[in-house]
Amino acid sequence: MKWVEYEADWAYWINPVTFRMPRVKKAVPEGVIVLTKERETLDTGQSIITTKYGVAKEDGVKSISKNSATTIILQQMIKYMKERNAYPTNTEIVREYANGNVELEYKPSNYDRFVIKISPEILGDDVIQFLDSLADASDIDGMPDPWKVEPAKSGRSTCRTCEQMISKGGLRIGEPSYYDGKLTYKWHHLECGKDFLRGVPLEKLAGYDELSPDEKRELEEVIPE
Ligand SMILES: [Zn+2]
Repeated sequence: MKWVEYEADWAYWINPVTFRMPRVKKAVPEGVIVLTKERETLDTGQSIITTKYGVAKEDGVKSISKNSATTIILQQMIKYMKERNAYPTNTEIVREYANGNVELEYKPSNYDRFVIKISPEILGDDVIQFLDSLADASDIDGMPDPWKVEPAKSGRSTCRTCEQMISKGGLRIGEPSYYDGKLTYKWHHLECGKDFLRGVPLEKLAGYDELSPDEKRELEEVIPE
C-alpha cells in the first residue's frame, strides 16, 4: 500500500479494506476516497459543515464530484464483497428494482451517506442472489469477523503482503477470510499488515487479551493510531 501525503485540518478517508472511515493523519493510501470537511458561517450566522470529495492519486489528493466518489466506492465495495463474502459495515439494501438493480445505502458516519447502485452488468451476476449469499457484517469495526493478532505458532506461514515466511513466535496479523463458509486467516507480518489496522481499537482484535505485556507494547508501537 503506497501512502500519499495529505494535509487537512479535518478530513476522513474510506478504508476499502474495512469500510470504516478513519480521520486523515498526514497521509492516505493511494486510491482511497477522501472527505474533507469545512465549517462555514452563513450570512445568517448559522454554521454549516461542507464536505468536499477527493481521491488519493500518486501525486496528491484530487478533487472529484460526489458522483465520481460514489462510483469508486461502488467498485471497492464489490471487490470487498467478492473477496470476503460479506457485507461491509454501515451498508444496507434500500431498494430492489424490477430490472435487477439494487440500491444500497452506505453511511460511514451519521453525517455522510452514499447511495450505491449495483446493476447485474457491473456485478457480472444476479445482484439479489449475490447479496443473499453474503454473510451479514457484524458491527465490529467494519469487519465481519475481527482481525486477529498472535505470535506465529509455527515458522510455516507466509505473509500475504511480502510473501516471505513469518518466523515462529513473531507477531502476525490475521485477516479474516472464508473458506467453505468457515473462518480462516490470511497472515501478514506485523510490519507488513500494520496499515490495515490503522485506527482500529487494538483491544477489539481477536487474540489481543492473550498477548503478553511485551507483545501488547510491540503492537501499540507498530500500529498507527
Ligand atoms: Zn510481510
